[in-house]
Amino acid sequence: MFLNIHRFLSVTKAEGPGKRACLWVQGCPIRCIGCAVPETWDENGGQKVSVEELAERILNGPDVEGVTFLGGEPFAQAKPLAALGRLMKNAGLSVVTFTGYVLEEIQKSTTKEWHELVSVSDLLIDGPYRRELADFSRPWVGSFNKRFHFLTPRYQALKTEIMAMPNRLEIRFTPNGLVLVNGMASSTILDELFDYSLVRE
Ligand code: SF4
Repeated sequence: MFLNIHRFLSVTKAEGPGKRACLWVQGCPIRCIGCAVPETWDENGGQKVSVEELAERILNGPDVEGVTFLGGEPFAQAKPLAALGRLMKNAGLSVVTFTGYVLEEIQKSTTKEWHELVSVSDLLIDGPYRRELADFSRPWVGSFNKRFHFLTPRYQALKTEIMAMPNRLEIRFTPNGLVLVNGMASSTILDELFDYSLVRE
């Protein structure tokens, strides 16, 4: 079974609780206005990687407490993601899944794979990005309508702690001069951070 992926990080502290591997899938049919990652929309882009290879990369990689699935739209590739999630859960790791759909929509769906992906998720963060509700006060999300669904006991403690947790931005510099960013911050902060005139002052 294969996944079409946009990006994989073997460890990050900016995409869910603790240290996590993170998988951005390629392809999103939702297409929110103001989406920060429109380059993930095209389902024909990305790179095909087998579920087994990704599981190996995560389990043999840096020490992490879980894996985060985001996109793109994870529910557009629910079957292979549910299979990967199941392998992670069997290995004792946690699963955090982001989606632009809302949980009620997923629960009503007749698509079996959608239910399988929910069933392996400890924490589901749902809802489309809504530019008019932009809000970066909560961790990992960028609009106020996004909801945190604690579906298993694994992260129940975060229910009361979540508002005190910071949003994070991670910036990596590659040897060939690329700057790679992940995490969540307002466009104002990003503009200031990457404004070379400010950097030179
Ligand atoms: S669901 Fe996520 S990836 Fe898809 S358009 Fe909305 S914000 Fe972008």
